[in-house]
Amino acid sequence: MLRFIADSMLGRLAIWMRLIGCDVLYYKKISDDELIKKALEENRIILTRDTLLIKRRKAKNHFFVTSDNYEKQLKEVIGHFRLEPFKNIFTRCLLCNTPLEGIKKGFVKDKVPPYVYETEERFEFCHSCNKIYWSATHRDNAVRQLKSILNQ
Ligand SMILES: [Zn+2]
Repeated sequence: MLRFIADSMLGRLAIWMRLIGCDVLYYKKISDDELIKKALEENRIILTRDTLLIKRRKAKNHFFVTSDNYEKQLKEVIGHFRLEPFKNIFTRCLLCNTPLEGIKKGFVKDKVPPYVYETEERFEFCHSCNKIYWSATHRDNAVRQLKSILNQ
């Protein structure tokens, strides 16, 4: 599976790529040197809008994202790398990029609001940042938006 690191201008793209299950590192603040070092160390493709970064630092393994609109960026990246957007959707933590684990409903009883506990059946857990994911509604909305992005 391809692994990515997004430059600091591509925060929304990074989150949407995580949503479809891609392994994408993203830092709000990271120096060019650090970004390139991480990419090399972890064999990651740099996603960037920064032509200077490419020219000056000779970042070899990179993809230049042309649009400044995150929906178009997402479509660009999915098309270029032939990603399958619905295959691994909702399998990764949006906050920290860690793969999510399914968690039995019983285990989240004291950790989510009572209404959520009563109405939701599926829960996932990030063991790195402890975030619990649920919301069928959010998932349906994300799928709808993703479909509309891909059809634009
Ligand atoms: Zn997390």
